[in-house]
Amino acid sequence: MSTSTDDGHPRGRALWERARQVIPGGVNSATRLIGRPYAFTRAEGAYLWDADGNRYVDYHAAFGAILLGHRDPAVDAAAAAATAQIDLVGLGVTEHEVRMAETLREVLPSAEMTISCMSGSEATAQAARLARGVTGRRYLVKVQGGFHGWHDPFARNVISPPERAYRLDPLSSGILPDSLSGTLIAEYNDLESVETFFHAFPEQIAAIIVEPIPHNVGALLPEPGYLEGLRAITEREGAVLIFDEVITGFRHALGGYQQIAGVTPDLTTFGKAMANGYPVAGLGGSRALMENFSSAGGSVLLAGTYNGHPVGAAAALATIDRLRDTDHYPRVRRLGDLMRAGLAEVISELGIPAQVVGEGSVFVVYFVPEPVRGYRDLLGNDDDAYREFHRRMTDSGFLMLPMSLKRNHISGAHTEDDVTRTIDAARTVLTDMCA
Ligand code: PLP
Repeated sequence: MSTSTDDGHPRGRALWERARQVIPGGVNSATRLIGRPYAFTRAEGAYLWDADGNRYVDYHAAFGAILLGHRDPAVDAAAAAATAQIDLVGLGVTEHEVRMAETLREVLPSAEMTISCMSGSEATAQAARLARGVTGRRYLVKVQGGFHGWHDPFARNVISPPERAYRLDPLSSGILPDSLSGTLIAEYNDLESVETFFHAFPEQIAAIIVEPIPHNVGALLPEPGYLEGLRAITEREGAVLIFDEVITGFRHALGGYQQIAGVTPDLTTFGKAMANGYPVAGLGGSRALMENFSSAGGSVLLAGTYNGHPVGAAAALATIDRLRDTDHYPRVRRLGDLMRAGLAEVISELGIPAQVVGEGSVFVVYFVPEPVRGYRDLLGNDDDAYREFHRRMTDSGFLMLPMSLKRNHISGAHTEDDVTRTIDAARTVLTDMCA
């Protein structure tokens, strides 16, 4: 990261310097280091303001947690009303968490029962343990390029540089090799790579976990038959199919991407967008599976001080109400289509070897011209161009995360005018990059 002091953000820099004295690296999650010491002081609708008073159109959207727009009045009011009524109890159950589980059962095809926790990582950790506990099997299969949280079992082969793909590449030090040796890495959109593992390890694979659209590497889209194939293989083999819908859930449809795909997994993890930025996440599945948690007399430990927090539950209920009562999905899809078409036109005009992909409210520019169906195809992405594009867009007031292969999100608060101005800015940025 540049440490020059003439970056035009004196207040942001001052706050960041203070932060670095008391928070490692100055940020509370490593991917929040976004090229310069940004410090934000205000958020509203589609916009963020930094400490120096600059306004940004926000497509980062807190990694997709902001779905309706920042500080949605209805969601904030519901959270405030919950706070005025009750806070954390830690015993028995509260009305909010029951209503949330009932509502999730109504909207999410696979969620006959749910548990609620605070983060997506907790949800996927619970899913892995439940699958292993129920099947008594060792292996978990994940997809190259997928990310399922920061904990040990899935901290492998996430976004490997080309020379490290398919090797053991833990995300972090401090992980015992044993924790990773039970995790197998398949290719997205490649059922054969999954079958290979079932042949090699018969009756030893507990679960396949997949982001139905691996948004952690942009927006790879499932080919017809792929998700259905995973469903058929897991059914045949007695393994658990887990859809990690921490990003796709609520973002693409109220019933998650599983509703769009028409494929119902055994377990679903969700978080981020479900409460428009309030900290709540969860895991849903059939009663038969979920009653293996210790809370129902099963052998799989269920614990968590903040699980089922009434404020998160109230925010999730209000978010779901807003999604039910408005034309949110067709509206953001229309804006997404407009954005993708506009950016594709600019790229074509300038003859840049790139393409625009996405789904609904999500858009990504891959700097690779050939069609992309799996992580392998992304190894040809021009990462420098990708990061440069995002950095320059952010400098122009359109906040995008300058980490390679990260997606952008349109929220319910963005307008057609925001999209048009973004396309105009992209034209200027890409023209400059070509010069
Ligand atoms: N699963 C997916 C698909 C994610 O993208 C993430 C986070 O980015 C997680 C799980 C972990 O969620 P959290 O950051 O809330 O722990």
